[in-house]
Amino acid sequence: MGELSSIEHEGVERASEEPMLEQVLAWAAVNSGSRNLTGLERMADLLADAFAALPGILRLENPAPVEAVDGAGRTVHVEHGRHLHLAVRPTAPVQLLFTGHMDTVFGTDHAFQETRWLENGVVNGPGVADMKGGIAVMLAALKAVEQSTIADRLGYEVVINSDEEVGSPASAALLARAAQGKRAALTYEPAALPDGTLAGARPGSGNFALVVRGRSAHAGRNPEDGRNALLAAADLALRLAEAKYPGLSVNPSRIEGGSPSNVVPDLAVLRVNLRPRTPDDERKAESLIESAIAAVAAAHDVAVESHGSFGRPPKPLTDEAEALFELVKSAGADLGQAIGWQPSGGVCDGNNIAACGVPVVDTMGVRGGKIHSMEEYLVAESLKERAALSALTILRLAREAA
Ligand SMILES: [Zn+2]
Repeated sequence: MGELSSIEHEGVERASEEPMLEQVLAWAAVNSGSRNLTGLERMADLLADAFAALPGILRLENPAPVEAVDGAGRTVHVEHGRHLHLAVRPTAPVQLLFTGHMDTVFGTDHAFQETRWLENGVVNGPGVADMKGGIAVMLAALKAVEQSTIADRLGYEVVINSDEEVGSPASAALLARAAQGKRAALTYEPAALPDGTLAGARPGSGNFALVVRGRSAHAGRNPEDGRNALLAAADLALRLAEAKYPGLSVNPSRIEGGSPSNVVPDLAVLRVNLRPRTPDDERKAESLIESAIAAVAAAHDVAVESHGSFGRPPKPLTDEAEALFELVKSAGADLGQAIGWQPSGGVCDGNNIAACGVPVVDTMGVRGGKIHSMEEYLVAESLKERAALSALTILRLAREAA
């Protein structure tokens, strides 16, 4: 252990004494797949009860309306769960943002529902690392900080959304509002590596549905009158994929539509994911989509509508972000934890918070791994460790106001 003040020492001790493991096991027992509205409502209630231990104003916020395009090219409304929002001491000198997500990638129809112990204090279960464990860490750190004599210097907002695993479409506006005016943000995704390494720079990500409308005709009698939407969608997929470069990955993932074999198909929906490394790459990706659409529309005499956006902007490591990483690293060093960071190919709410100009460390959650698979695991002892790391980081951010 390095140099801790007595306030810091007490905060760290209190954080690691919180009943995090019990919480994780109880929360992981509730299925909260992003599309399971009943489970999400139950999860939101459990979290609201737990976070009621903190002061401030706690609300369950309604999801923003979200539209998507179905396989028939129709715009449909997509339902989401409510989000937990807590605001504490909004006029205190240091304002922070804490975020997490209550949803998981495992719906009610998934085979992965049960939590069980593997050997040596390792828990296997849906969402134990991503991120019910992380939420327990966040709450433990905040409860510990609240008992500290310097708590009154610190104000904060907590957002725990219900739709992170589907790109946060129904909570993006809430997150952006909560990020306003914040000194820093901590997000509780699991560490990038099982050894506790944090994720630094992240690419952006955008999901697009490109609806191609052609004209149907008889495949034998008058095919020349038809305009083949399926062929146009395939051409579009090829053109987009060929335009990838080291700063932009392109993944055409699905083409829906088509027709019986004797009909020229008049509708196809191409779904594609693009991941730009920097904001400049994002601008290039936008003009790529535009020019590919124009070229395909002209070449095939079809109409193409683009739906979607870069819902996750790229998150380069800015100087301000690097300074926050250094603060976490030195808190780790003082606790005997070696904390490093490395770029990640994944995206999360940290992308959106960084895009608001707020420095963010978005992997403050537990150590574990194999997330989004049935082998997802949490290293149980990391709960105490990471709660201590968070508590010390928060206390040091609060001290800046002294
Ligand atoms: Zn996550």
